[in-house]
Amino acid sequence: MDNNQPYDCAIVGGGLAGLCLSIQLAQKNFRVVLIEKNTYPFHKVCGEYISMESWDFLENLGLSLSRMNLPQIRKLHVTAQNGFQIASPLDLGGFGISRYTLDFELSKLSKTVGVVVLEQCKVQSVVLQDDLYVVETSQGKMNARIVCGAYGKIDPAFMERENANKEGGYVAVKYHLKTDFPADLIELHNFKDGYCGISKVDHDTFCMCYLTTVKNLQDNNNDIKTLEKNILRKNPALDRYFSSATFLYDKPLAISKIGFQKKQAYRQDMLMLGDAAGAIAPLCGNGMSIGMCASKILAHYITDFLHGKISKQELIKRYTNEWNANFSMRIKTGFYLQKLFGKRLTTLWALKFLGRSPRILRKIISLTHGQKFS
Ligand SMILES: Cc1cc2nc3c(=O)[nH]c(=O)nc-3n(C[C@H](O)[C@H](O)[C@H](O)COP(=O)(O)OP(=O)(O)OC[C@H]3O[C@@H](n4cnc5c(N)ncnc54)[C@H](O)[C@@H]3O)c2cc1C
Repeated sequence: MDNNQPYDCAIVGGGLAGLCLSIQLAQKNFRVVLIEKNTYPFHKVCGEYISMESWDFLENLGLSLSRMNLPQIRKLHVTAQNGFQIASPLDLGGFGISRYTLDFELSKLSKTVGVVVLEQCKVQSVVLQDDLYVVETSQGKMNARIVCGAYGKIDPAFMERENANKEGGYVAVKYHLKTDFPADLIELHNFKDGYCGISKVDHDTFCMCYLTTVKNLQDNNNDIKTLEKNILRKNPALDRYFSSATFLYDKPLAISKIGFQKKQAYRQDMLMLGDAAGAIAPLCGNGMSIGMCASKILAHYITDFLHGKISKQELIKRYTNEWNANFSMRIKTGFYLQKLFGKRLTTLWALKFLGRSPRILRKIISLTHGQKFS
């Protein structure tokens, strides 16, 4: 591939954030290329609970969620390691959809509106030369006026790995299963040094996804089955699923070396969105909505820039300011909240306190979430 005419925008990574940005820009008739190293559809490690914040946004984008008969989730149960449980309504609530389905549907929409979607294509470097970017990929080079980084939690090799030392602390594992479970419920179960979420997604399937420390896995022979047997199944609620549910994958889907912190919304001449700009602790259940909301903010400012209404400096300034104003506090709250999880006594005491203080519990939940957007 040798494309001489520059794209208006090149997007590195075709997860939710990148796909949503590509669709919005193409709908405004810009020339957009989206580069994804995998081939759709594919599974992804994620809890697959989407906060209601982004329902209207996805519908307006052209994804008809209301026709997909998706589970609407309105209740939360949290257990401590010994099975002690508290319950809370979820004021905003959420819905369940697998990443396999969601990213695939968005990729189809993206192609329909004219985005050039390059699959099985890996970005190897991004260099700004004068006012034009040169994007080198496994399928050749291309030029673009703007490049956005939507490559997820882990910085690719071509990025300066300034966060590499801070990252690497967590591993995450996901399964799809068949089990007996209410469609309107999400459960969060604590175990030593981690927690596990379960909720319903599309196709009458349930998503079970857990996060723990790399050390916890290492202490269990680096073996997921041993970790589950020795650690997760000590929580009676989790033990029930491991003994009675039907697991649908041959082997678990796992990722490692992940961390949760704010990064920068503009780095190495690229505008960042989704987890590439900063990942929120999964227990908050709204990393996907943050990525989608950021794509909306960014699409707006890129449009102004490409129409010559603002300079590139102004684009960077306005986007980073708005990103910080919207998401920094939520990411920080999630970071501290996560510290209460996975500890035997601290978690139990915190849950006992919150069980007696439902208003505080609902306030904490609301602090990690934003407003509905469309
Ligand atoms: C255990 C766990 C549970 C979670 N549960 C939830 C939840 O229930 N609800 C929620 O809202 N959020 C949840 N999250 C967070 C959510 O998964 C992320 O916030 C979301 O996936 C971010 O989307 P993204 O588009 O930024 O990145 P991703 O979805 O990770 O997409 C990045 C894409 O970039 C591609 N890529 C990477 N490098 C390159 C390259 N060099 N070239 C080309 N392509 C590249 C990747 O293949 C990938 O498809 C969870 C996270 C974890 C770890």
